[in-house]
Parts: sequence; C-alpha cells; structure tokens
Amino acid sequence: MEPIVGIDLGTTNSEIALVRDSQPFVFEDNGDPILPSFVGLSEDGRLLVGAAAKNQWVLAPERTIKSIKRKMGQDVKVKLGDQEYRPQEISAMILKALRDRAAAQLGVPVNKAVITVPAYFNDAQRQATREAGELAGLEVVRILNEPTAASLTYDPSQRELRRLLVYDLGGGTFDVSIVQAQEGVVEVLASHGDTQLGGDDFDDLLLNLVCDRFQQEHGVDLRANLVARSRVLRAVEAAKRHLSYHPFARIEEEFIAEKDGQALHLNMEISRQEYETLIQPLLDRTMDCVQQALDDANLIASSIDKVVLVGGATRTPLITQMLEDRLGQPAHQEVNPDLCVAMGAAIQAGIIAGAEVGSVLVDITPHSLGIKCVDSQRGFPFEYHFAPIIHRNTPLPASRSELFYTFHDNQTEVEIDVYQGESDDVRHNHRVGRFMVQGLSRVPAGNPIVVQLDLNLDGILKVSARERATGLQKQVVIENALARFEREELDQARERLEQLWALPGGTDDYQDEDEGTNGFTPSTEEEELPSLVPGPREGQREAVQARALLEKAERLLDRTQPEDRVEVERLMTRVRTALTDRQWDKLTAACNELADTLFYLEDI
Ligand code: AMP
Repeated sequence: MEPIVGIDLGTTNSEIALVRDSQPFVFEDNGDPILPSFVGLSEDGRLLVGAAAKNQWVLAPERTIKSIKRKMGQDVKVKLGDQEYRPQEISAMILKALRDRAAAQLGVPVNKAVITVPAYFNDAQRQATREAGELAGLEVVRILNEPTAASLTYDPSQRELRRLLVYDLGGGTFDVSIVQAQEGVVEVLASHGDTQLGGDDFDDLLLNLVCDRFQQEHGVDLRANLVARSRVLRAVEAAKRHLSYHPFARIEEEFIAEKDGQALHLNMEISRQEYETLIQPLLDRTMDCVQQALDDANLIASSIDKVVLVGGATRTPLITQMLEDRLGQPAHQEVNPDLCVAMGAAIQAGIIAGAEVGSVLVDITPHSLGIKCVDSQRGFPFEYHFAPIIHRNTPLPASRSELFYTFHDNQTEVEIDVYQGESDDVRHNHRVGRFMVQGLSRVPAGNPIVVQLDLNLDGILKVSARERATGLQKQVVIENALARFEREELDQARERLEQLWALPGGTDDYQDEDEGTNGFTPSTEEEELPSLVPGPREGQREAVQARALLEKAERLLDRTQPEDRVEVERLMTRVRTALTDRQWDKLTAACNELADTLFYLEDI
C-alpha cells in the first residue's frame, strides 16, 4: 500500500506521522519528533531547515525565517539572503524536509499527504497550504482542520455523537474549537482564537521579570546585549517547562555580563506562583475565547463530552485548572499535546488509505497519586484533605513535585502519607504507604516541604520529601504501586463489605492497611501525626500562619486581663472573618495586628 502521511505544519513546530500496525507513529530525527518551523541560510549560503535554522535565528535574523505560517495566503514576499520567496515556497521547504525524513526511514518515496491547518484558515490560506505541498512534491489528498485531527486521536471511530472542546495553545498561536463528530462526519461548530498569543509570550514575560530583577541588582540590562538576551530567553523557556512539573525553577547562567571588569552571573529562582501570576491575564484571554466559542456553538459547558488539550504550552498546570474550573470536567492530555495533531492527520490519512486504525495507545496512570494533608482554607482545619501530585491520566513515566507547608510552629517532623484515588477526602482513597521525616528545623508554621513523586512505566513509585531551607530529605521506593492499587482496591472493598455486615450502623468507613511494607516506617497513633498543608495556592501559607496565630491567641487568652481580652477577641474575630472570606490582604493586616498585641501580652 502506498504510504499516505499526516503532516502538522505548525507555526513554531512541524511533525510528520504515519499509521503503522493500526497506530499512528511520528517520524523522529535523532530521537526528536519535532522539526522547528524555521528556514534559514547558513553563512556559506547553504539552506537550513529546522533546528539548525532555529539556532542561528537570534544571531542572524536577516538570514532566518520563522512563523511563515502567519503569512500563508497573503500576497507578500519574504527575503532570505538576496532572494525573495512567497510564503508557500518557504512552507514547501519545511514540508520537503519532513517528507525526506519519512522517506529515508521508510525506504520508499513519500508522495501523498494529509496536511492540517487551523480551523479559522480561509480559502486563500488553505489553497496556499495545498500549493506548498505540491511544491514539496506531495499530492495533498486532504486539508484537515487541526481540531478535527486532535479529536481523531481521542476517538478515531467517532460512531456516537460526541462534542469535543479542543483547546490548542502552541508557541505563537491560540485557538479553541468545538468539534462535533458522528459516524465519521466531523464538523467544527465554532472556532475562536488569538493568532498573537502563545507560549512564546510567557517566555517574554519571564524574560522581562528576570532581566528587571538582574538590572535592579547589578545595574545591567541583559536585554541590551543580543547574545545575553538569547541565553536568558533559552534559560527562561527551560525554567517555564520545569515549572509545569515542579513548584520552583532555578535559572543559572554563568558569565552572562560584565561590569567594571567583573564577571556577572545570573542565578535566580522563580516560583510557580510568581509565574502563574505573570501569565494569568493571558490565560484569562484564552478563557474568554472558550466562552465565546461555546456561545457561538449555542452550547453550555455541560454539553461538552470531552476537553482535549493540544500544543506544548497546555502542559502549564494553571491551564488545566482554569479549564476544569470553567467547564466542570477534567481536560485530557494523554495523547502527547505536541504530537496530537500530526497523529490525527496520520489517522485521517490511514482511513483514506484503507488502513486499519485503532485508538491511540498511551501508558497513563489510571488514578491520581498524592498525599494526605490539612486543608486550612475551608474555614476550619480539615485533616483528611487529599492533595494530588500526579493526576489521573498523566502519561508515564511521570515526575512531579509540589510544595507543602508545616502546620504547627516548631514542627520538627512530618508524616508523608501517600494515597491513590480521586476523592479530596483521603478516607475515600487508597493508602499506598507512609513514612516520617524527622529532624526539621524549629521554625514557625509554614516551613516549606517539597514532596516529589516519580512513577515509572513498571509502576515503581519513588516518594521523596525535602525541607527546602536545609535540604534535609527522606526518600522511599514503592514497588508495584499500580498493581498494588488494584489488589488493595479489592481488599478494601472486601473490608468495607465485611464491616457493613459485622457492624450495623457502624460509622468508621476507613481502615488502615497493613503497615511496614514497601520500605515505609510505620508511624504510630493516627490522630497525633504531624501534618502538612498544601501550597503554593494563593493564601495557603497565610492561612496556615493565621491558624497557628489563632491557636497561640487561644492559649494566651486564659491568662489575659479582662480589658485586654476584649481586644484580643476582637482581633481574633477579624482574623477568622478574613480567613473564611479568603481575603488574604485583610488577613495579613489582621494577623499583624494580632501578633503585635500578643507580643505585648506575652511580655506582661
Ligand atoms: P507547539 O507550538 O505546540 O510546539 O508548542 C510550543 C510551545 O509549548 C513553546 O512555547 C514551548 O515553550 C511550550 N512548551 C513545551 N513544553 C512545555 C511544558 N512542559 N510546559 C510549558 N510549556 C511548554
């Protein structure tokens, strides 16, 4: 059968894929499936396509072209060296590189392709894409909408009526589409977006933050020097990716600048919270587009069957969270969001070629994994809160860390109690194991502890907890965490049933599993265990500190003179009100006042 390939011709990156053994497979070059959509000329006039062109872009912009997709369908020319080219000619160079990549690996010529375009592309843009294919020696058997391609990877048969919301945030563009599919007929009901918004804008915001701070500290603007700027840009992009999985990222670049004959080094830490505050306004804009697309399709959030994430930038956890808040259901990114569109194009190509096509197989964790902690934001401390760290449907292997805080002043130990499940009450989830970390510093409540989970394809789970200030760390390994869950699920179900039969009217629906397995040190006395609270959500740390302060005030209240007591109680009420109303600024002000008063009372 003559191969028909699927191609995602993207603004920032492009990929080529083919269905083999009923599965879409993306062609790689040196282990990399992504071809950056950059075209350039080297110093000696050679044509460069992909990573080589991207690498020279900062230093030789006059010899490099990026984001040509934005110009497709326009009657313009772009300059490369001393020649001028139409946008479809530049796109053809990218397509040719992809075609060569596939042909080299297949060992046969590749002459036919399905190429994807954004749903909002007009006729001229689609026609230009077709021409680009032909210039690259490809017969374009179908121009396919990108959201349709993405929907195919999640549901290739599309027999029942299904509506998918496809949220696609790449490097330079954003679009959201609502796709309706039934019996192979796929329709884009509405599509909205912003062609000037993408992950690159997040990099720019981070770049400015880092450079502003560096300038304040050293009086040197790194943006003024092209090489320094490009080094910072590369470093912040890597930091941004790291922040998708961890609560902090360090940005380190040695010898980045010079001042008064002295070398200056960049060494800065960014927290996910700072980063999220920075990008929130941009994400709010994307959420407005989501609403607009729903309105245009005359649908409400609950009529969407599946929310699908496409584009590298959708790995940002805040996006998943905002979409979940807005649409009331989880967003799916099991199929690699970078490769999803190319795989969908390959599936469409496979269907046209008459190949058998199955659902995309992915190794994912079927249940969320996280730890037990105290939720201070409910107006009262809830001790059985489940804080997921690796969420359900995350592709494996997965490595994620999250920040937690100690709950009490001078808390020298914490219990790390690991659970699997979806309930925010651990008593409805399944314990995987637990261990203690001892020897923490004697500091006020709110001591940051980073908890990291690493789950590999064999179901081996590594859990570590580290005191951030000192680096004190304890780590354990749980063999067979996934299989263990299945077994425990059965055991627990049996246990629950037995309890039900044995204890009519019994209330305790929770039982400890066997202790001392999997290298965990069993801890004693459930109620006494020192706890953690989750971070770094807004107000979390303030809430913990407020609660510790209230405890202290309660203790002091008994030995306080009646005239002072009234004032302490008034301030305690202010703290409690701000806590329940989640007004963090007011909470900080009220806490400061209460702390000052307590300080004075302690002295008398
Ligand atoms: P795309 O155009 O779909 O290839 O997406 C590229 C964008 O995704 C770039 O801005 C990348 O920096 C961004 N990106 C890739 N991986 C991640 C990640 N793990 N977290 C956040 N952004 C990412």
